Amino acid sequence: MSSIRSIRGMPDITPDQTALWREVETRLNGVLDAYGYEEIRFPLLEKTALFSRTIGEVTDIVEKEMYSFEDRNGESLTLRPEGTAGCVRACIQNGLLNQQSQKLWYRGPMFRYERPQKGRQRQFHQLGLECFGLQGPDIDAEIIALTARIWRALGISEAVQLEINSLGSPVSRAAHRQALVDYFRQHANQLDEDSQRRLESNPLRILDSKNPDMQELNEAAPRLLDFLEPDCREHFEHFCGLLEGMGIGYQLNQRLVRGLDYYSRTVFEWTTSALGAQGTVCGGGRYDGLVKQLGGPDVPALGFAIGIERLLMLVQEVNPELIGAGHRGLFIVVDPAFTAQAMAIAETLRNQLPGMPVLQHLGGGSFKSQFKKADRSGARYALVLGENEIGSKQVSLKDLREEKPQQQLSLDELCAFLRQELRSA
Ligand code: ATP
Ligand code: MG
Repeated sequence: MSSIRSIRGMPDITPDQTALWREVETRLNGVLDAYGYEEIRFPLLEKTALFSRTIGEVTDIVEKEMYSFEDRNGESLTLRPEGTAGCVRACIQNGLLNQQSQKLWYRGPMFRYERPQKGRQRQFHQLGLECFGLQGPDIDAEIIALTARIWRALGISEAVQLEINSLGSPVSRAAHRQALVDYFRQHANQLDEDSQRRLESNPLRILDSKNPDMQELNEAAPRLLDFLEPDCREHFEHFCGLLEGMGIGYQLNQRLVRGLDYYSRTVFEWTTSALGAQGTVCGGGRYDGLVKQLGGPDVPALGFAIGIERLLMLVQEVNPELIGAGHRGLFIVVDPAFTAQAMAIAETLRNQLPGMPVLQHLGGGSFKSQFKKADRSGARYALVLGENEIGSKQVSLKDLREEKPQQQLSLDELCAFLRQELRSA
């Protein structure tokens, strides 16, 4: 019988990769803490309408990427393709947006039915951050500073660039939209098939086209920035000034429109050229009308999402040294007659030395074969427990990585020695 395989585009994350995941997650947590963000967790499954209403009917995600199905009751459910909609839903439902501002983050799997390739999976992970109740543009600039700090914490600042744009308000977008439709109608014979379809439904997305034949036409299209109302323009200029004040470099990209319908005013992406075609590591922006649209209070909001797999690829590419060696701990080699004593000693060591891996050999075998396993485990030391050691109430400590004489120590001396090692590791 052939074995059952995983679903295409939904890879396992095996133990050889999880050390890097955990290291990156720890560093991300540190940055999020430093700016006062709190974690929120919400379900992977939501009612389909939550996504179709918020993300927009004529977006890539809703048109062709959602994992939707009917449950046993005939209700249409969808595996979350992104986090913002669910986060907003959860905040409204739990009354988190009444009066106070909220700074929240979440991390976990997202699901999109896309063609699997490098940097593109069907189950992938995002770190999402959302901030509610602040008008900006100071908060817009602060979350950019936060992302810049993440790149520094991971040693990849040199490999990413910031692109920004403003999408203005619904009013300025409507005026721009009309100008775009007029412009593209005049050049209808140059539009590709996708763009012709979008001409009526979502002309702004034509600007986002990845078709090289569309570049020239798009370059000359009416620019949204020319249609911004004074307060949107001021918001954007102030935002740019705050970035400059913090020494954060950026590029104005007028074709940056983002794939989702709910954005307004500030939008941004961090991109890299180190990963080939799938070069966007982080994307986000302001979505002031969304909370109200979903039945909540009229609070301004903004956020971003980082694609964790792309982030990890980038770390491996430009900063492969990220994971330090750490202390590899000890491996207890034991005469099977003294297994019970060894287990008690192992527990004592774990109590006394938090953070130090303590592996005990289980399942018997000769000292020789146990030492081989100790070596292969990557442990720094072997702790030997044989008849002599149990009799003298001492342990023998052998350095597995350096040529040094074996030490005879009492348990207290051993703990003191290893505590010192942990401190300097
Ligand atoms: P793209 O243009 O690459 O399709 P997107 O605009 O659809 O990206 P967002 O919805 O903004 O992406 O999601 C934020 C981030 O999540 C992306 O910048 C990317 O890093 C990551 N991401 C999105 N889709 C995938 C996927 N299918 N596989 C892996 N990572 C993804
Ligand atoms: Mg996409």
